[in-house]
Amino acid sequence: MSEANDCLFCKIIAGDIPSSKVYEDETTYAFKDINPKAKVHVLVVPKKHYANVSELAKDDPAELAHIAEVAQSIANDAYNGSFRLVFNTGLDAGQTVFHVHAHVLTGEKFDE
Ligand code: C5P
Repeated sequence: MSEANDCLFCKIIAGDIPSSKVYEDETTYAFKDINPKAKVHVLVVPKKHYANVSELAKDDPAELAHIAEVAQSIANDAYNGSFRLVFNTGLDAGQTVFHVHAHVLTGEKFDE
């Protein structure tokens, strides 16, 4: 599995930094966000390191589709199947960790 030096999420996936895991398979890892912005806020990440969603889409579109499926399954289990899927991409969009991650926001009704 490719791992980038000093990447926080690579260390979480490797188990070197603790996380609240909600799902794992061969290619994908999901854990609770430590600073939740919704009743249920889970990050879904590919185990292989890509800096952002555009790199992932270019190099491994099947994994991007798989992340959407994992997000749906999390929303089915945690709520009624509705969810928001957000990829902050770039500094000005608020991306702070440069290992692509999907924010899955669910567990409640969003009014805006
Ligand atoms: O999209 P962005 O890069 O800002 O998202 C990073 C997310 O990673 C934040 O929501 C932050 O709360 C989360 N995080 C985490 N566990 C860490 C470090 C950051 O869940 N150890």
